Amino acid sequence: MSKHFETEAIRNQTERSQFSEHSSPLYLTSSFVFDDAEEMRASFAEEKQRNLYSRFTNPNTSEFVNKIVIMEGAEAGHAFATGMSAIFSTFAALLNAGDHIVSCKSVFGSTHGMFTKYLPKWNIETSYFKVDEVDLVESLIKENTKILYIETPTNPAVDILDLELIGNIAKRHNLIFIVDNCFATPYIQQPIKFGADLVIHSATKLMDGQGRVLGGVTVGSSDLIREIYLFARNTGPAMSPFNAWVLSKSLETLAVRVNKHCKNAKKVARFLEKNEQVKIVKYPFLKSHPQYKIAKKQMKLGGNIVAFEIKGGLEAGRTFLNNIKMCSLSANLGDTRTIVTHPSSTTHGRLSEQDRLEVGITNGLVRISVGLEHVSDIISDIKQALKK
Ligand SMILES: *Cc1c(COP(=O)(O)O)cnc(C)c1O
Repeated sequence: MSKHFETEAIRNQTERSQFSEHSSPLYLTSSFVFDDAEEMRASFAEEKQRNLYSRFTNPNTSEFVNKIVIMEGAEAGHAFATGMSAIFSTFAALLNAGDHIVSCKSVFGSTHGMFTKYLPKWNIETSYFKVDEVDLVESLIKENTKILYIETPTNPAVDILDLELIGNIAKRHNLIFIVDNCFATPYIQQPIKFGADLVIHSATKLMDGQGRVLGGVTVGSSDLIREIYLFARNTGPAMSPFNAWVLSKSLETLAVRVNKHCKNAKKVARFLEKNEQVKIVKYPFLKSHPQYKIAKKQMKLGGNIVAFEIKGGLEAGRTFLNNIKMCSLSANLGDTRTIVTHPSSTTHGRLSEQDRLEVGITNGLVRISVGLEHVSDIISDIKQALKK
C-alpha cells in the first residue's frame, strides 16, 4: 500500500469513461465488443488483458477486487457471488480427490457443511482442532494434507487464533494457509503479513455494512489466484456488477464505519461485564478475553462482535431475545443495525450439544453484532431485555 488505507479505498477507481464522471459508473453489461477478429483472438488467448464477458471479469468487479488486494497486501484476487461461493471455489480449484485439510473446528456453519457433507464426496477429508488445541495441529498433518484453514475471530464465540503461530506451521509443512478474515476486515487485520497464502471474505458483512447485497472475494498470491480464477471462469460463481458497484462504494467508508462499530462494541462489552445477569463476556479487546494478548498482537481494533453468556442457559437466552425491542433478530452481521442472535436455539440448533460446546456455543451464549445506532440506545435496549 503506497498511500494510507482510507485513501486507497477511495481513490482506486476504474478508468474514467468519455463522460468524465466523478463517481464510478455501473457497468451493467454481460459482454464486451472487439474491433476486429485479431483483437478478439488475442483477447481470448489472453495475449491482451481486457474484459471479454462478465462471468470472467467486469470493470465493477475489478474495481472492487483491486481495492481488497491493496487492503490485504495481496498480489491478486477474484470476486464471487457470495462468501460461500468464494470459499467453495477456492477449495474446489486447489484440491484433488484424496487430498486432506486441517481446519479449526470453529468455522462458519456452511463451511462446516462443505467440509463434512460435500468435500467427502470427492474423498477429501478434514481433520479438526479446537481453538484451545493449537498445539495439536502438527500431529493432524498427514502426507496428503494440502490446506490449513482457520477463521479468526471465530463465529459466534469470538475466540482468537494466533495467525503467526499457525502461519509458521503451514510454512514448515508446505501447506496452503487460508484465512477467512470476515469478522476482522482488512482494516483491522491483514493475515498475509502473518503468513497466509490466501484470504477470503464474505463481503456481505462489514464490507457492505448496510445489509443490502451478497458478495465474496479471495485474494492472495498470483499463482494460486490464477487457478481459482480459471475455475470460476469455467464454473460461473461470478459476482454481479451491481453488487460489486455497491460494495466498492461501501469500501470508501469501511475505515470510518469499522472504527465506530468497534468503539460502540467496546462500550457494549464494558456494560455487559458489569451486569449481574451476565456470566461471561467475550470481546477480543477486553483484558478478560482468554486470547487478549494474541488479539492485541494481530488486530488493530477489537471488532464489532460481542458474545456473552447469560445466566440461566437456553431459556434465559430465548427470553432475552424475546424482550429485545429495537435491535434486530436476524442472521446477518456487520450491519449498521445492531443484530442479536442466540446461536444454540437458531443457527447452530441442529448440532448436538456436544458439538456446540466444542465450538464454544454454550446454551446461554448470545452474540451481538454491534451496529452504528447511538451506543446509549443500544445499551438501553440490552439493559431492559436483561432485566426481564
Ligand atoms: C457469512 C459468512 C460466510 C458466508 O458468506 P455469505 O456471503 O453469506 O455466503 C463465511 N464466513 C464467515 C465468517 C461468515 O460470517
